[in-house]
Amino acid sequence: MGYKELADLIFPDAKDVSYYEEKYPERDLKEGAVVTRFAPSPTGFVHIGGLYQSLVAKKIAKQTDGVFFVRIEDTDQKREVENGVSEILTSLKEYDLSPDESLNTDGTDNGNYGPYIQSKRKDIYQAYAKSLLEKGLAYPCFCSAEDLNEIRENQTKARQRTGYYGTWTRCRNMPVDMAMEKIKNGDSYIVRLKSPGNPDKKIKHKDLIKGNIEFPENDQDIVIIKSDGLPTYHFAHAVDDHLMRTNLVIRADEWVASVPLHLQLFYMLGFKPPKYAHIAPIMKEEDGNKRKLSKRKDPEAAVSYYREEGIPKEAVIEYLMNIANSNFEAWRKGNKDKSIDDFNFDIKKMGVSGALFDMVKLLDVSKTVISTYSAEKVLEDVLNWSNIYDKDLYELLNRDKEYALKIFGIERGNVKPRKDIAKWSDVKDSIIYMFDDRFLTSNIEYEYQKVTDEDEIKKIVTTYFDKYYDENDDKQTWFNKMKDLSEELGYAREVKEYKNNPDSYKGHVGDISTVIRVKVTGRANTPDLYEILQVLGKESILKRVNK
Ligand code: GLU
Repeated sequence: MGYKELADLIFPDAKDVSYYEEKYPERDLKEGAVVTRFAPSPTGFVHIGGLYQSLVAKKIAKQTDGVFFVRIEDTDQKREVENGVSEILTSLKEYDLSPDESLNTDGTDNGNYGPYIQSKRKDIYQAYAKSLLEKGLAYPCFCSAEDLNEIRENQTKARQRTGYYGTWTRCRNMPVDMAMEKIKNGDSYIVRLKSPGNPDKKIKHKDLIKGNIEFPENDQDIVIIKSDGLPTYHFAHAVDDHLMRTNLVIRADEWVASVPLHLQLFYMLGFKPPKYAHIAPIMKEEDGNKRKLSKRKDPEAAVSYYREEGIPKEAVIEYLMNIANSNFEAWRKGNKDKSIDDFNFDIKKMGVSGALFDMVKLLDVSKTVISTYSAEKVLEDVLNWSNIYDKDLYELLNRDKEYALKIFGIERGNVKPRKDIAKWSDVKDSIIYMFDDRFLTSNIEYEYQKVTDEDEIKKIVTTYFDKYYDENDDKQTWFNKMKDLSEELGYAREVKEYKNNPDSYKGHVGDISTVIRVKVTGRANTPDLYEILQVLGKESILKRVNK
């Protein structure tokens, strides 16, 4: 009895690998085209790091006329959740990162290199595992959990590396007859790689991001097929990325230490290995220390967070691009109107260690992005967002869309557009005072600044509205009248004038306009007061003044 019989006994129905080699030929792409992928597990949680990785992958594929595909890695069936796959695909779509090839939400495949979900590739993995068994490069292992424990304890006692390797293995050299006997008896087993590695030897590898790295060769007889017949991550990675003709593996750097094993697998299977680019994780600063953005602790680790907060997708993408290539920011400054597609992304410029995720910076980017939107676009986006997350705001805006457009038009579409909105969830608070029914019924604390004396405030407001205010004034006339009003009441017409002679005045024109602003809006900080008065209109203003 030999390896062939053993292989037939274990995988009687597996096809010859030549079948798959022909079915999934080399891709016909131009020189330099990158075929890469995003390979998430459908856990129901899409991490911002996954979006980051997809952005990088899609950008490189696009730039080189290559292919970006998504492969769902569901071989750990304990971790799976029902809507896991659609969550991933929907999130990618939302950010314009839809892959060229992938599983569809209905379970069908889009592309010629599928199935794009690992649980449907069982026969493929088994065919390749069989090919290794046939050559004596893999073997069935019957060790129980207790056996493995015992090995580990002995290794610890002997101060040796733990794991299933070299002389510590129990099934590696089991005679084939004996193994077949056990299988026929119904003993449970898994399939292990018979690693030819020597840890005293080093392998050198050049990672596109990390640069040159050197590791000892792998000598662990890792599991390739588990007892449920499904492959481990390592084995599936080699088989899938070979058959899907990936030539650049972009993945999280937690996998970098597995490179020696992966190269060994490619070699033993007779595959040409891909290039690797290991991306450093997105980090967060906490108490002066850097740590990975955590799914458990940080709400902003979830892609859904940005949707819920109403941070526009362009802002998130711009920010991630900033993290990915530090020269992006300078490029953006010089190319304000260009599409990200025009930016020449270089994966080699990605940071070796994890970039800090800076929410303040992201919101800043978002403010700039939103400042370029037209009032129509803002209204449309806020309506879409509020329809799901804030029904009250949705109804408020829908009551009179023309009025809502005017509000969003304040200080917009000019050379220096307003930059006060960072996310749609901020909008309500920033515009609520523009609605009479809300403003007139609210019990706000008026934030008067310098002038706080009630009689003085009354005098300013009454004089202004009785004598100066005219809703038909243009901005310059309006402003001149503010100055006239200031002068009449003993305030300086110009700030500078006041600063030069503070004792000659009660204050300056800015203090006067603040009083008017606070009286009419309840707030000391608002966008342009003239525009606000224009949008509110006389009727509303008078109601406010008399409140
Ligand atoms: N499913 C693996 C993960 O989520 C994929 C790693 C890879 O991209 O190869 O970590």
